[in-house]
Amino acid sequence: MTIKAAIQTGRRAIELTEFKRPKIGRDDALLRVEACGICGTDVEQYRGEMDGVLDLRYPLIPGHEPVGVIDEIGVDAAERWNLNVGDRVAVEPFIPCGGCSYCLTGSYEHCTGWKQMMSYGFISTAVAPAVWGGYATHMYLHPKAVLHRVPSNLTPEVAVLFNPLGAGVRWGVTLPRTTVGSTVLVLGPGQRGLASALAAKVAGASLVIVTGLSRDRHKLDLAVTLGADVAIDVEKEDLVSRVRELCPRGVDIAIDVTANATAPVLDAVECVRPGGTIVLGGLKGTAVKDFPTDKLVLRGITVIGARGVTAPAYREALSILATERYDLRPLQTHRFGLDQCETAIQTLAGEIPGEHAVNVVILPR
Ligand SMILES: [Zn+2]
Ligand SMILES: [Zn+2]
Repeated sequence: MTIKAAIQTGRRAIELTEFKRPKIGRDDALLRVEACGICGTDVEQYRGEMDGVLDLRYPLIPGHEPVGVIDEIGVDAAERWNLNVGDRVAVEPFIPCGGCSYCLTGSYEHCTGWKQMMSYGFISTAVAPAVWGGYATHMYLHPKAVLHRVPSNLTPEVAVLFNPLGAGVRWGVTLPRTTVGSTVLVLGPGQRGLASALAAKVAGASLVIVTGLSRDRHKLDLAVTLGADVAIDVEKEDLVSRVRELCPRGVDIAIDVTANATAPVLDAVECVRPGGTIVLGGLKGTAVKDFPTDKLVLRGITVIGARGVTAPAYREALSILATERYDLRPLQTHRFGLDQCETAIQTLAGEIPGEHAVNVVILPR
């Protein structure tokens, strides 16, 4: 039996190919991929913007947000993961080594234990057994992969939201310690911004403000549907004075999840109250010009860099999804087959005129 997969061979180049089904031993498993989410990282990867940043060797199978069912599992792995054939799981992108000083202290997102990057969607097909990405009918489950059982009431299409919602929980709640009564400003209305807004409301935030550009109107409307209190179009309104109207001291927490734009980082500094917290979750690819470090010092502002998501937030995300209390269907805007991966990425990237994407999913068959 063969595995069908979409491989990236270089910048903006993805093609379909086939791989041999790997032999599964006692301690590993094979996932039948049902759905694989796409995020801004997939877009950067596709455009080749990560080539200098990460040690990527082509060809590779992209896709780091997969959900699927266990297709085959070794006897030791079944016992260790407490899983059997047919069980549905969500797979974390990082594969932690489990033994380096970061892994041993629970910060496995900084794992230094591998010779190469060990994250699903970024491993060359030259590394056996080749099928290390979610843009495929099947994906190899390494003995150290981190898996989460998907609650039985969730379809793969809903469960795949574990990834953006996990980021929302960690960046929007855990890292800045959002709690009952917090006031939260989310800069950027992409799926991670919307998820941060939702997670902050779930945590009891009394005021959640989401910002975006005029072309993000559909996402700003969606933010309010999902429970945000205020959505601000920063091209039509003056953000800082509007935030001051709503929250005269400034907000407790500001979360930047915009890609590339540096103005939102400066806005965050202006909008957060003395003693408040700024979470930076969006990569800029450039320095923030005239960053006012003195204001951080004088106002005692805490800045947190949000790298990835770890298990507690993924678990919380799956349990939020399982409650079915929040209607996240409006987030799910686009689905594509394995033969349409490039269109899927271009759709999320906003490269296809007329398409307003939020959450884009690949459904391999
Ligand atoms: Zn992602
Ligand atoms: Zn490690």
